[in-house]
Amino acid sequence: MPRDVEDRVRGDRNGQTPPHASLGERVMLGKMIREGIEPPVFLEPDILMEGAVHWLFGSSESGKTWIGLWLVKNRIEAGDRVLYFDKENGPEIIGERLELLGCDPEAIDAHLVYRLEPDIQLDGATMEAYADLLDTEDPALVVFDASRGFLTSAGLEENSNDDLDKFYEAVLKPVRNRKRTPLVLDHIPHDGDHARGAGRKKDLADVMWKVECPVPFDQDRVGMVKLKRRKGRRGALPETVVFSIGGGDAGFVLARSAGTVENEDRNGLTDSQRKVLDRIRENEPRGATWKELLEALNGAKSTLSRATNDLTRWNHITKRNRRYHIVGPVEPESSEDTPNADGSTRFQKGSTEPLEPGKSGHGSKGSTTRRGGTLEPFAGTAAGRLSVEDAGAEMKRPHSGARLNLPLYLKGETNLEILARSVLVALGKAPDEAERASCLAVVQEAANDPDNHPLDCECEGCA
Ligand SMILES: [Zn+2]
Repeated sequence: MPRDVEDRVRGDRNGQTPPHASLGERVMLGKMIREGIEPPVFLEPDILMEGAVHWLFGSSESGKTWIGLWLVKNRIEAGDRVLYFDKENGPEIIGERLELLGCDPEAIDAHLVYRLEPDIQLDGATMEAYADLLDTEDPALVVFDASRGFLTSAGLEENSNDDLDKFYEAVLKPVRNRKRTPLVLDHIPHDGDHARGAGRKKDLADVMWKVECPVPFDQDRVGMVKLKRRKGRRGALPETVVFSIGGGDAGFVLARSAGTVENEDRNGLTDSQRKVLDRIRENEPRGATWKELLEALNGAKSTLSRATNDLTRWNHITKRNRRYHIVGPVEPESSEDTPNADGSTRFQKGSTEPLEPGKSGHGSKGSTTRRGGTLEPFAGTAAGRLSVEDAGAEMKRPHSGARLNLPLYLKGETNLEILARSVLVALGKAPDEAERASCLAVVQEAANDPDNHPLDCECEGCA
């Protein structure tokens, strides 16, 4: 029993150990209600709740360690102590990333207790040392990077519910009982959607976030990382939290993509981002001015500024001659509305004449992005094998989204993912996570073939 509870129970009995102490503390719920049940306290707004067990899971390139370190940085900067148990990345990676995040080295050493390769056995001596460390350091946040390593060194199996229970009782619960916040980082396979032993982990966690990276990032390029809530107690947490992440001229950024949490639509866009896109789309081909966009957002300047910055980073819009235009993804004009004779929405074969030089078709009628459109993540089960020929044909089909996106892709103005979506949506293919990588490779191969390029293409292969 945690010390504070024990003291309280004992105190009630004038220092006598109550006869039923081992059967749990009696909590006076009526009294609690009369005094008012306090809302959960956030350690990090919208993401971490004090005293709750958090599970952050994602594939190796989801950005989960980055998000973990961003949470650590925020604690350090708030003057809290943080205990980081690392069985995954090593001091170089952790140090380098904290540096990129702009975390002050002095503050790091003052507040971060970084422990490399801990060996947390569940035996009495280790548990005593562990409890002592928690009491001595009194960390606000305790990070376990990553779950598998801790289970393995304790001789536990990730697929065993009993073993996960043991890990929870011995390692996570002591932190929680101290009203401190444990954060477990957890890998999932690239093509997976669930943590190993997912069901039990979800039972044990108070808050569970899945980390996804819909727009890839690196040190030269800003992308997007998204937290999706898989479990959250007491309805206090938003469904998703979106970050801009990556490097560029202005250095490395990792920031919430909006100062306030907005509801996202099914394409992961906030209300204001959606309004901006809609207004630009209405005004195409002429584009929309800043003033027109400001009207669409009722004069909310900083919201508009965030929305245009994010949409520009994500390659959805671009600015030319002081007007904003849609970049991509450019949707096939009406693949849903004009089915083929057989009723399918597959492209019409044989219509592969190349685009006339100088006629980009960009922004022309019928080429703008349909509401909804290809921003949507791959989903569904109607997958089929995608051939390089089919992808190439789609890139040559008049007015197709792929044909409009291809030049943008070749110029580096949109990414492979977006080009691939315009191909896959038009072909009615919805690959699952496992097939996604091979679809991207197929689309890339078709995109690299000069035979599929427009006549006026200026790429190296055509020139
Ligand atoms: Zn070319």
